[in-house]
Amino acid sequence: MKTETLADNLQIWEHDAGNLLLLQPFMDSIIVGGDGCFLIDAEGRRILDLAAGQFCSILGHSHPRFVARLQKQLATIIHIGDQYVSPGVLNAASRLASKAPGNLNKAVLLSTGSEANECAMRMAKAVTGRTGLLGLTRGYYGISLATRNLSSISDHPRECDFQPAPAGQDKLITPTCYRCPIQKQYPACDIACLDVSMDLISQHLENIAAVIVEPVLSAGGMIFPPKEYLQRLRATTRKLGIMFIVDEAQTGFGRCGHWFDIQNYEIEPDMIVVSKTAGNGYPAAAVIVSESVAQGLERSFFMHLSSHQNDPLAAAAILAVIDTVEEENLVDRSREMGSYFMTELERLKARHSIITDIRGRGLMIGVELASDRPDSSRLGFLTAMLCEKNGVHITYSYYEPVIRIIPPLIISKSEIDFAISVIDDALTTVESDAANLNDLIPKNCRSGPFISDMIQPSQAALLKRMWTTSPQDWLNKLRTVRNHA
Ligand code: PMP
Repeated sequence: MKTETLADNLQIWEHDAGNLLLLQPFMDSIIVGGDGCFLIDAEGRRILDLAAGQFCSILGHSHPRFVARLQKQLATIIHIGDQYVSPGVLNAASRLASKAPGNLNKAVLLSTGSEANECAMRMAKAVTGRTGLLGLTRGYYGISLATRNLSSISDHPRECDFQPAPAGQDKLITPTCYRCPIQKQYPACDIACLDVSMDLISQHLENIAAVIVEPVLSAGGMIFPPKEYLQRLRATTRKLGIMFIVDEAQTGFGRCGHWFDIQNYEIEPDMIVVSKTAGNGYPAAAVIVSESVAQGLERSFFMHLSSHQNDPLAAAAILAVIDTVEEENLVDRSREMGSYFMTELERLKARHSIITDIRGRGLMIGVELASDRPDSSRLGFLTAMLCEKNGVHITYSYYEPVIRIIPPLIISKSEIDFAISVIDDALTTVESDAANLNDLIPKNCRSGPFISDMIQPSQAALLKRMWTTSPQDWLNKLRTVRNHA
């Protein structure tokens, strides 16, 4: 990209971003609008958004009917306080119940995934009278202390902002079959990782209130647990009286070819938590519980009082999402477009040895890149930034370099073709070691220095890392570098 085309974006950064608190780095583009699968920046550049915002905008950006429904609700009533309900709230609860599997038939509307997961976890404690919680080692459940402590991605358990850590939380080994953590082979393994996990926590089992799982571990590396894993885990929870909570933040409302991805596993959980996709980018979430959980909660006078509980505007967003997914047949569309995307990616894999695995369900796709190259820790960043320069926004996960393709469900074949050609070029550049890291780092005055510090750690940080990394890890790293020299 020519530097002069960045002038406006960078000027805005320079003039207006002095008071922005930087808790993460930002791209150079200042987004002024959206149109379907595209974000539009201050210079009119259109960026194909393969992340649907923060994995929320399944209907795409500025969907006319979605916008009209929210505008109408804005002019009617936005918010009414915990003590009242509106017709839209009642309607949203029944529509959620009608889409949820089995007898999950009561819902409360909330705002964010963290809040809703935290609420579900509290509900499980109230219903069971137990305090322990289980997540997965590569799970991600949110940013509140309890959800974050149960999550693993960007886990910094020793950092002070994680303390004091909530007690009684344990993690099950993630069934990462592509690189089995217990060196078995699926399906011959007979899901041994679950037995190992259960054995490790056997002392705590009788105090476990709930296990919370994502049907696809997105942040954890786009991992699709085998059906038997979740089915057997579900059976175990029934036997032990543990609540089974499914976090459908990214997978809910059609992304994986069903209204809820847990339906692909043919499992009926005790609770489903929806967020992100529930509001198409407007902060709306819900906890949908089974009749028996609802009875337990109502009997024990369980209360969850938050300012934006059952807000009419969130209800309107959820109803507009459900109606539009239905009207535009997006559940089927995610299956069709997902399969087209996968086929095209397989074609790329045949030409790019750097791609080691492609996995997906519907429009939730992971492209894993070689993790044995000396630059493997940068491959995700390099590929994503090269794509960004050419008009495609993608994200990646941090364990191994896995490109995450999670676009709006309205994506078309020609948009997929465009994405494939940009990814193709990016991989060619990365494979030929032609990517220049410094050219790719955002140039805006606030994020550039932030990223440079992140990528080129200070000597103090390096020394700290030496203390906290085992000598075996360093030896392994040196060995990989030598093998590639
Ligand atoms: N669960 C999952 C699976 C998520 O991906 C996220 C967000 N990345 C959350 C929960 C937390 O949602 P929020 O950021 O809305 O609190």
